[in-house]
Parts: sequence; structure tokens; C-alpha cells
Amino acid sequence: MTAWFLSLISLICLIAVHAYWRKKYILLLTKNTEFKGHEKHSRLVKDLGMTDIFDNMPEGILVTNSKRKIDFANPAFCKMFGLSENPSGKTVMEAIRIHQANELIDQLETKSTVTNEEFMLPNLDQRFLQSNGVAIRGKNGKNRGAILVFHDITRIKMLENHRQEFVANVSHELRTPLSIIKGYVETLIDAETNAESNTHKFLKKIENHSDRLTFLIEDILTLSQLESGGIALEQNHVNIYELTESIFDSLKGMAEKKGIHLKNQVAREFVMMADNRRMFQALNNLIENGIKYGGKCVCVSSEINEEKIVICVQDDGPGIPVESCERIFERFYRVDKARSREIGGTGLGLSIVKHVTQLHNGTARVESSPGNGACFYLTFPNVKIENNRV
Ligand code: ADP
Repeated sequence: MTAWFLSLISLICLIAVHAYWRKKYILLLTKNTEFKGHEKHSRLVKDLGMTDIFDNMPEGILVTNSKRKIDFANPAFCKMFGLSENPSGKTVMEAIRIHQANELIDQLETKSTVTNEEFMLPNLDQRFLQSNGVAIRGKNGKNRGAILVFHDITRIKMLENHRQEFVANVSHELRTPLSIIKGYVETLIDAETNAESNTHKFLKKIENHSDRLTFLIEDILTLSQLESGGIALEQNHVNIYELTESIFDSLKGMAEKKGIHLKNQVAREFVMMADNRRMFQALNNLIENGIKYGGKCVCVSSEINEEKIVICVQDDGPGIPVESCERIFERFYRVDKARSREIGGTGLGLSIVKHVTQLHNGTARVESSPGNGACFYLTFPNVKIENNRV
């Protein structure tokens, strides 16, 4: 009798526990799958045992098969693209109609990975996505599909826009009072006849520092414009030899003061498609640095082949430590803070060089080691134009 009673109690407990767990499981399932039919995960994802991880990830995951049809899409993906139903079985274009996503899958047919592709979602309150993808290949190298991961970077983009706007506005607002200060200081300097007086010395100092601040603000404004993409290049035929000559002309006084010889070894007829003003700015920064931090000579040379154009600015100064070469194009990065402050740089020159080069689809890099001078290379794709001869 006791045994029968105990068995009955155990059975009731078992039913209760089962009912409890079943309820909890269903609750979990509905929480993770707001979308109809979402429990049908692809075999691949199941095989990988990744279902739970994918379901709970904030990043959107999309797996396509060899027929370019969707095999699996996690809830985050569906939410990102505003889908109310599981898109499995459809093509990307049928499911989300975003041609950039379709292009990523196109790319993965030939490439093994795609990284950091950014695009904006139309009609969905300007959301920005960044995507990384990897191709799935069979043992024989045959295409079995692709896995794409989508990150919502709208917030980062917004913050970046706010930062750029803030910097541009502040710099702009600072310009006016600064030019007024400079105007009054110049008037006071002119009125002070005794060049040896303290008043004259102090006024000169105010003038120097307001100049420094003006250069800094100009550089910050240029950089924020370059970063925001708010600068449209005015591409023209630019003769790099002549451009270098005009920069040498404007920096002649500075070079003479330091006893530095300026050498133009660019081929005289070398012409490239570029924005003359921006190229002047980039090369001017490099040549000026060569004079400021260099030794006895600054030389500009060029090299051109079928694929690329390289402009090189070389000096024979103390050079740059290898560990700094990586970071030198960052904003406000200085090798020797005290020396740069004394020389009067803004710390933004090389950052401007990098952005101007990138706007021309090029890259900027430096080769240097302590005691062996520095060599800055600007490399651009060789866009064919007439009369582009070395
Ligand atoms: P800055 O206005 O301080 O010159 P840049 O961005 O132009 O700022 O340069 C960043 C730093 O890189 C400089 O402060 C300096 O330490 C270093 N640097 C730049 N060019 C040279 C060079 N030709 N030789 C040695 N150091 C250099």
C-alpha cells in the first residue's frame, strides 16, 4: 500500500516537473522566435550547434546556400530588415530587396571573405549597417554558400556625425574672435615704438600664440571637412614638378633660415589627375616637416609605372623610431611632444596628408629609423590620362 502510494506521489511530481519545464521551454522559444516558423533552423546551423548563440546575438546572421537561397536568418537579422516572417528559402533580393546585401553574396562567390562593408538601409529611418562575410566552400573548393554578419552601426555613425559637426562649429566660432584679437595686437605692436620694451615683447608673444591658434583651428576645420567627406575633389591635370616648385617657393625663407637645401627630382612632365589645392596641402605639410624636423636636405621625387604613381618626400634628419612610424598619421600624435611644441606644429599635418591621399584613392606611409632620415611615400593608382609621361 505504502509502495503504491509512493509511486503515485512520484508520478504526480514527475508530471508537475515536466509541465513546469515544458512551459518554461515554450516561453523561451517564443521569446527567441518572434517570427513565424523561426524554429526551423538550417541544418548547417544546427550541425554547428550554434542555434542558441545565433538566436540571442544582437548581430544579424544570414546563411545562404549554394543556390543563393536563404538557409538561415536569426531573429536579429529579421528585426534589422523589418521582416515579420522567416525568410528561409527565399533569395536575398526576394527577402530584403537590398542590392548591397546581394552584392556581398556576389563577391563571396569569388572571394573567401568580405570585411567592413557599410551601407544604409533605405526607408528605415536611415539605419546604417556594417557587414562582414565569409564564403562556405566544400572539400573540392565548390561554393556551398555564405555566412554574413550584420552590425547595426547607426548609433556610432550618429555620434561620429555629432562629433564632426561639433568640431566644425566650434572651430568656425573661434575664428572670428581670434582674428579680432590678432587685428588689435598688430595695431598695438605698430603703436609701440620701442622694440626692446616689455610691452612690445609681450604683444609679440600674444601675436605668436594667436597665430598658432589660428593654424590649429584651420587644420581642425580642414580635417573635419576631410573626415566628413564634405570635400568634393576638383580633379585636374596636376604637374607635380611645378607643384613642388611652387611649394619650395613658399617655404624658401624657412628652409634658408635653417640652411636646408630643397631638391626637386620629380620628372618635369609628370602629370597626374588630382585636386591641385589638396595636393599642395599634402605635399606642403610633408616638405615643411622635412624642413622642421630634418637635417640638411629635403628631396621630392616621383616614380610611375603601369599601375601606380608614387611621390616620395625624403629628408636626412634624425628620423622616426620604428614604433612611431605606425602611429605617426594619427591626429595629435607626436614623436617628441616637447620638440614639436617648441617648433610650433599643430600635430594634425600628417593626418591631413593621410586623408587627402585617401580621397585620391591612395595610401600614405613612412619608412624611417633613428639616425637615417625619413621617407614619406604617397602612392596612388595610375589613372590613365594623356601626356602622363615620366
Ligand atoms: P606637427 O604639426 O607636430 O609637425 P605632424 O602631423 O605634421 O604634426 O607630424 C606629427 C609628428 O611626426 C611630429 O610632431 C614629429 O614628431 C613627427 N615627424 C613628422 N615628420 C617628420 C620628419 N620628417 N622627421 C622626423 N619626425 C617627423
